[in-house]
Amino acid sequence: MTIRQTARLVDFHCHLDLYPDHAAAIQQRERERVFTLTVTTTPRAFPRNKELADRTKYVRAALGLHPQLVADRAKELSIWKDYLPSTRYVGEVGLDAGRRFYSSFDEQKVVFAEILSACAEARGKILSVHSVRCAKVVLDTIDARMPVGRGRVVLHWFTGSLPEARRAAEMGCYFSINAAMIRNERSVALVRSLPKERILTETDGPFTDNAVGHDGPADVRPARDGLAKLFQMGAEEIDALISDNLRELLG
Ligand SMILES: [Zn+2]
Repeated sequence: MTIRQTARLVDFHCHLDLYPDHAAAIQQRERERVFTLTVTTTPRAFPRNKELADRTKYVRAALGLHPQLVADRAKELSIWKDYLPSTRYVGEVGLDAGRRFYSSFDEQKVVFAEILSACAEARGKILSVHSVRCAKVVLDTIDARMPVGRGRVVLHWFTGSLPEARRAAEMGCYFSINAAMIRNERSVALVRSLPKERILTETDGPFTDNAVGHDGPADVRPARDGLAKLFQMGAEEIDALISDNLRELLG
């Protein structure tokens, strides 16, 4: 039996190290058999995340340099590069053209392009990518720096247009969908338009409100249940779809 067959749910983007009790959050995911990609926002956080994740069956740690932190931490790209050979998973990386972070957008583009080139060179990496208000630039950069076949991209909380989503799917991207997206009318139309074989679930905990009021990490079931409803599938059917998609992604 492989992990993908025994995992009960999938959370392909969350930040377990931002919960008050990091180790307990990991243990909870392990106990509940949720295949979890725990992303990091700075490369300095990666070793501890990896150490804890390596003791589990269901949790994987991703090496990140969050676009919202690039203004202060672009220099850490060299640390990020040092750790890259030790992991298959990269995230959270990407671009953020939101008002608060736009002043660092040029620097973010340089860092993201370098990250993609390093991943393309290393081959076989799986990336969880942030793309707030700049889907086109994110896709252009992936196109230019990490051609299809050199690595795989999961667009996390994607909020681009329908044509941009179609383009991303044609480029081979996956999409991790959270409960907040299913509560938003515009996002619902986008999710509905996606090829079902490219869909995964995520919480982005603790940045989503379903984390509030609970001791443990955010629950991925609202995202799974929302997708089931959207696609008029039963719980078993949607779980099988997502686990098939995960298996395909991980190869
Ligand atoms: Zn995130």
